[in-house]
Amino acid sequence: MKEWIIIGGGIQGCTLATYLLEHGCTKVEDMQIIDPYREPLAQWKTYTKRIAMSNLRSPAVHHLAPNPYHITQFAKKNQWNNAFYGYYKKPNLEFFNHHSEDIIEQLQLHLAWKQGRVEDIERHNDQWIVSLESGDKIKAKNVAITAGFTEQLLVPEWAGELKQNYPHLVWHIFEKEEWDHAEIGGNVAVIGGGITGAHAAIKWSNLGKQVTLLIKNPLKIHEFDSDPGWLGPKNMTKYRKIDDYKQRRTLIKQARHKGSLPPNIYQKLMKYVQQGKVTIVEDTIQSAIIKQQQVQLQSESNSFQFNQVILATGFTSNIQEINWLQRIIKSEQLTCAHCGFPIVTRDLQWTKGLYVTGALAELEIGPTARNISGARTAAERIVKSVST
Ligand SMILES: Cc1cc2nc3c(=O)[nH]c(=O)nc-3n(C[C@H](O)[C@H](O)[C@H](O)COP(=O)(O)OP(=O)(O)OC[C@H]3O[C@@H](n4cnc5c(N)ncnc54)[C@H](O)[C@@H]3O)c2cc1C
Repeated sequence: MKEWIIIGGGIQGCTLATYLLEHGCTKVEDMQIIDPYREPLAQWKTYTKRIAMSNLRSPAVHHLAPNPYHITQFAKKNQWNNAFYGYYKKPNLEFFNHHSEDIIEQLQLHLAWKQGRVEDIERHNDQWIVSLESGDKIKAKNVAITAGFTEQLLVPEWAGELKQNYPHLVWHIFEKEEWDHAEIGGNVAVIGGGITGAHAAIKWSNLGKQVTLLIKNPLKIHEFDSDPGWLGPKNMTKYRKIDDYKQRRTLIKQARHKGSLPPNIYQKLMKYVQQGKVTIVEDTIQSAIIKQQQVQLQSESNSFQFNQVILATGFTSNIQEINWLQRIIKSEQLTCAHCGFPIVTRDLQWTKGLYVTGALAELEIGPTARNISGARTAAERIVKSVST
């Protein structure tokens, strides 16, 4: 039997594994990280590469290691040039990944790695039995569910059927499959005005396409996903005093600058607009059809025609769609708020030995839960509770 099973080997799962090992809470042989990919952080790397992100949005102190200055020390030691960007020292993506890989290697996380997809969790007395799609079953004293909603793509209603029938013409940027974009015509629409949409518009323009960035609302500019006050007592003291989870959910929605982009990406995008490489159109698409291998988009008063439509519309967070979670909620009678999300203790236990981090811990951690900073806060709390 393992001491810990961590479900999901992305940013959240690897941060928790790092904290547990570095604080001596467990040994790598007593841990199992279950994730569908062959290697840690695979999904993070795919998504960030897809949009050709050069720097993280978050500052240098947000990374996998418990010591916040570990990454700056690592940069110095390895004499990395251009490891950080700007006033907030946002890590260069390649450097951030290199730093993460170094930690993963030092801690020998490959010894804990199990490629697979979890499809059930059951409790038998004091142990948890985690079942994988492959039929394998793994037992552990503690389970941490760190996999959130980063596989649930948000697809506008008008695009759903076309995406299924013409996947190369209407494509979500975080789709598992990628197309040879060189073979697709030069007139491309990117849907969505957040950081992903802006990055995608720049990337596809660099690929030689004429890009139209279709946005529903004016571009929103914010340095971070949520204001730094949410990282500490400034906003969190008040937040923690709220017992009403509906109110917490409302605050989270207000605090997260969903669909926003940081000033440097905005400035870069505007250069492309001035050079005539990207056109920004504010309109709401209502329907779409395929006509002669072209995608025809229709809004209330305009119609547009493109060779390809790229959806940069992010993720949805439908907890009801995660069947194995719904089963454990029912069988263990786990408490959930009106939004279906877990109500957990301060140390992020849903019930004895079952922990959550990331999006699933949002009602406890607050608006930063899904980010790297939230992964650190969650890992700190879990480590603190198991060390005492
Ligand atoms: C393009 C992009 C850029 C971002 N940039 C930043 C940034 O600069 N700073 C920041 O703080 N945040 C950033 N974020 C937000 C957030 O930090 C990332 O989305 C991060 O990857 C979230 O970590 P995660 O572990 O929840 O998800 P992931 O890293 O996607 O990992 C989740 C893993 O769980 C696996 N999984 C899912 N279901 C199961 C299952 N049933 N069984 C086993 N495994 C499962 C998935 O396959 C995946 O491998 C960014 C997000 C995106 C999309």
